[in-house]
Amino acid sequence: MLFDKVTIIGIGLIGSSLARVIMKNKLAGKLCAYDKNPEYLAEAKELGVVDEISNDLGKAVENADLVVYATPVGAYGEITRQIVPYLKKGVILTDVGSVKKYSIREIEENLPAGADIVVVPGHPVAGTEKSGPANGFDSLFEGRWYIVTPCSRSTDEAIAKVSEIWSAAKMRVDKMTPEHHDKVMAAVSHLPHLIAFSIVGTVSDLEGYEKQEIIKYSASGFRDFTRIAGSDPTMWRDVFLNNKETILELIQRFVEDLIALERNIRWNEGDKLFDLFSRTQKIRKEVIEAKQEQPEHEKRLLAEIKKLDK
Ligand code: NAP
Repeated sequence: MLFDKVTIIGIGLIGSSLARVIMKNKLAGKLCAYDKNPEYLAEAKELGVVDEISNDLGKAVENADLVVYATPVGAYGEITRQIVPYLKKGVILTDVGSVKKYSIREIEENLPAGADIVVVPGHPVAGTEKSGPANGFDSLFEGRWYIVTPCSRSTDEAIAKVSEIWSAAKMRVDKMTPEHHDKVMAAVSHLPHLIAFSIVGTVSDLEGYEKQEIIKYSASGFRDFTRIAGSDPTMWRDVFLNNKETILELIQRFVEDLIALERNIRWNEGDKLFDLFSRTQKIRKEVIEAKQEQPEHEKRLLAEIKKLDK
């Protein structure tokens, strides 16, 4: 057993998947959950993914050795202010937020100076477009990366203990500065999500097309974008607003590249289009070789959709 008591705040997709890992591997003497959504909280208890639930945030974190923030990052400041009076000496606070510079600031700024509270910020780079405890599963993290982004309140010992949980989830562990994490994620996750939100919005607002036709023929490409664009609105609003500078820079670059493509098409520059598509095809192969291709649960989902299509 790694911890006597672990409390997860926010028992949605990521929180409940982590809870399943902790229960399955017996990593905590007691696993407690708090969530502001009473239905999710009751569901988590019913599903047996935690030992106990509490609708009182202060009581939930009392005596915990590890507190995991698994809510949208916009809630971190308020949560920290509320839990501080109830935290045990030497407690480790960790999180799973998809942006790190902002989330660390929201936690650190709300902790009393000199308090014996350790912080280990991190991001499991795994997920689906679904929300809530019923959609979580313990193999969600398998084979993916957990990125720990130490801050001024981190200790080597606490980093090692938190990393052990993610290793039990079968994740590979990497370490980065929060700034570098946010830059890398802006490119590989935030920009692709933003483009998917934008494309799905554009296509569904197009005039002169039957909505039914767009849905019916969506397998031609649109459907792949709808999977990403179906992600949780609160989570993604918080990500874009809190990694603003980096994402704005990338949007500018993307718009320039899109305009270049527009020119290539207008002036029949087929060789330029061919060169770009050949480069992107090569990148796709490299992604597959790096084992970052579609995880098993997505493959199963797509197979089910294909069956329904027939
Ligand atoms: P989720 O399924 O929507 O779960 C989040 C839960 O937190 C919901 O039950 C939500 O309640 C609750 N919550 C919101 N504000 C709260 C507060 N102030 N106090 C307590 N509970 C609160 O979301 P998720 O996908 O698990 O995402 C959670 C975190 O994981 C986010 O920080 C996200 O950046 C990170 N993350 C997500 C993914 C992914 O692919 N989904 C991957 C890696 C990391 P309501 O339903 O009432 O809002």
